[in-house]
Amino acid sequence: MPRTWLEVSLDRISLNYRQIRRVAGSGVDLMPVVKADAYRHGATAVAQTLEHEGAQWLAVSNVEEGKALREAGIRARILVMADRIDSDPRAWRESRLTPVIHDLADLSQLSPGQPYHLKIDSGMGRLGTRASVAEIVERTRGTNIEGLMTHFASSANFGSDQTQRQHERFEQIRLGLDEAGLRPRWLHEASTNPLHFGQQHTWRNLVRPGYAIYGYVSRAAGKAPDEMLDVAPALSWKATILLVKEIEAGSPVGYGAQYVAPRPMRIGSIGAGYADGLPHRLGNRGQVIAAGRLAPILGAVSMDVTTIDLSESPELKAGDAVTLLGREGEVSIDARQMAREAGTIAYAILCGISTRVNRIYV
Ligand SMILES: *Cc1c(COP(=O)(O)O)cnc(C)c1O
Repeated sequence: MPRTWLEVSLDRISLNYRQIRRVAGSGVDLMPVVKADAYRHGATAVAQTLEHEGAQWLAVSNVEEGKALREAGIRARILVMADRIDSDPRAWRESRLTPVIHDLADLSQLSPGQPYHLKIDSGMGRLGTRASVAEIVERTRGTNIEGLMTHFASSANFGSDQTQRQHERFEQIRLGLDEAGLRPRWLHEASTNPLHFGQQHTWRNLVRPGYAIYGYVSRAAGKAPDEMLDVAPALSWKATILLVKEIEAGSPVGYGAQYVAPRPMRIGSIGAGYADGLPHRLGNRGQVIAAGRLAPILGAVSMDVTTIDLSESPELKAGDAVTLLGREGEVSIDARQMAREAGTIAYAILCGISTRVNRIYV
C-alpha cells in the first residue's frame, strides 16, 4: 500500500456534471473548468469523463494545460483563461487552443481569423479589459470574436451588490457591441456560485463550473437564494499508518514538542505531511478518520509524517489506512471542513494536494 494516495470517483464526476447540466437547463451549455489538474482530480481522466458526458467546451488556465489535454486525445474546444497570447505561439495553433484576450493590444498577435473570447473586467479588478464599448468596437473590427466573458469576485456574497454591478457593466458592454453589430456566439459570466444560487440572468448561453464538478459549493454570505445543486465530493484522500505505539503521560509528540500527552496514549504516525499538501496549520487542530471515528492530529504536521491519536481506535495497526478527506461510515471530512481548521479555503486544500500523492480511479 502506498503511504498516501487519492481515490477519485469518475462516476461521481459524471453525476455532478449531469446535475449541473439539469439545473442549467436547455439553451445553456457547460464549459467545465479543469485547470490546475482538475483541482487535483486529474485533468486527463476528468476531461475524458466530461467529454464522454457531452461537454463541448473545457476551460484551463494556461497553454501547457491545454496542450496536455490535446496530447491525451481530448477533442472538445479548450478555452485558455489566464495565459499570455505570446507564450508558446506554436502550441496555440497546433493544439487548437482558444485564447481569452484581456487587453485589446494583444489582438494584433492573433493569427487572421483565429477565434478568441474577450474578457471584460466588469469590476473584479483582476484579468480582463476595462476598455470602453467604442474602443472595443474599433479595435475588434475584422477579428473573430467568438465569446464575451467576465468573472465575478463575490458571487457567494449576497450582502454585497458587487455581482449585480458587475453583471450590469457586462450587460452594458454586450448591448453596446450588439448595437455596433458585434454579437459574439458565446456569452459567459457564471462559475459555480451563480449557478448554485440560481442567478439565472448571469447564465447566458454558457457557464463555467469548476468547484461543483468536483462536488463542492460555497457557503453563502448574507441572505442567500435557494440552493440549486446537489453535488458530492469525488475525491478521497488516504494515508497509511506507518507505526503505532503507546506513550506515557508527559511524553512530547513531534517537532517543537507542541503536544505533550496528558495521559498514557496510543498514537499512530501516518505517511502524509505538508509535503503532500496536508496543511502545516492543522498541527494540534485537525483530525482524520480512523476506523470510522474522528482522531485528532497531535503536535506539528511534519513534512512527510503526521501523528494522530489512536486511543479510541484500538483495532487499527501499522499498515492500516486512515482517511484525511472522505467518508468512513457515518463520519466524513471534506475539503471545506479541513480548510476551516487550517484557516484557508477548500479550493486551496484540493489544489494543494501534492503531485507526489498518486491517484487511483475507483
Ligand atoms: C476557476 C474559474 C472558474 C471556475 O470557478 P469555480 O468557482 O471553481 O466554479 C470559472 N471562471 C474563471 C475565469 C475561473 O478562473
